[in-house]
Amino acid sequence: MTSLDDLPIRDDLRGMSPYGAPQKHVRVELNVNENTHPIPEPVAQDIIESLARAILTINRYPDREFSQLRDSLAGYLGHGLTRDNIWAANGSNEILQQIMQAFGGPGRSILGFPPTYSMHSIIASGTGTRWVAAERDAEFEISPRTAVAAIREHQPDIVIFCSPNNPTGTPLSLETIEAAYDATDKIVIVDEAYAEFAPAGSPSALTLLPGRPRLIVSRTMSKAFAFAGARLGYLAADPSVTDALRLVRLPYHLSSLTQAAAVAALDHSAEMLAMVDDIAKQRDRIVERLTELGYHPWPTWSNFVLFGGVENPSEVFETLLEKGIIIRDLGIPGHLRVSAGTRAETTAFLDAMAALA
Ligand code: PMP
Repeated sequence: MTSLDDLPIRDDLRGMSPYGAPQKHVRVELNVNENTHPIPEPVAQDIIESLARAILTINRYPDREFSQLRDSLAGYLGHGLTRDNIWAANGSNEILQQIMQAFGGPGRSILGFPPTYSMHSIIASGTGTRWVAAERDAEFEISPRTAVAAIREHQPDIVIFCSPNNPTGTPLSLETIEAAYDATDKIVIVDEAYAEFAPAGSPSALTLLPGRPRLIVSRTMSKAFAFAGARLGYLAADPSVTDALRLVRLPYHLSSLTQAAAVAALDHSAEMLAMVDDIAKQRDRIVERLTELGYHPWPTWSNFVLFGGVENPSEVFETLLEKGIIIRDLGIPGHLRVSAGTRAETTAFLDAMAALA
């Protein structure tokens, strides 16, 4: 049997592990921060009609510039953004990959602040970009001073923040982003995959875009928008950034079906986002109940909760799994992460946790 090690793979990929969230189908799936609410039936019908129209011209390549979709995304984001500020790809993972292809790569580095989204460093290695890990402050926060010190020390070609941060849920202040931007003349990315779950009125890094052409805000339809299976991520930035990404994207990377589905879904933003408030309520319920049970949930602006005080995380993970509930063991000592689900799913998780106590 040939093993990976027998292949003439790139030296820098030898010994690496792929992204590894287990894909187990059980009764209650709260492990990958999806929106577990199904999309409303009337919206699904509209998406199907849009797909049906798109399939009639599927013999042709899709619009390489996905102009209608960029218009829809700009309309959704607001903040005075237009089509020229928007770029999209098959999930925000692909967005981040294209950014690293264009602005990172061999001989270049990207600075991140673990614990953070595991794909940031995995995409870095896939694109040959050196991953540099900086320390956070206490409570997983990043002050402007901490960010600036790390940038001065490491002189990275890209700085990546995650706000709110996965897996901790920690929000990031705009002051930190501004200070980081001013401390470098390179690219600054803010991964806002979970932005819609932040408290109403919290400012997004989108407000910082005017006058900051090296700032990129990435978003996704996978989380709040309940569209993970469609694979649609996007970014907002200066139009020159999208010009850079055109140099590395594959031609026609967004299929006609993806474009048609996403445009139809964005026509129904309000209905698609209708469950966000309820998800935030379930998240707050998790924080409250886990605290009562003696765990230490971290403050979160996202649709998930990281909680400490778990004596044996892998044992708790397995016990829940035996009950048909999957959450996430990220290898952070004493911690587990759970996504907020529907009321019933959240109750099932909390009851199982109470039974452990
Ligand atoms: N960024 C963060 C912080 C995430 O947690 C995720 C998904 N887990 C992504 C990006 C990627 O999401 P997608 O590719 O589905 O847009």
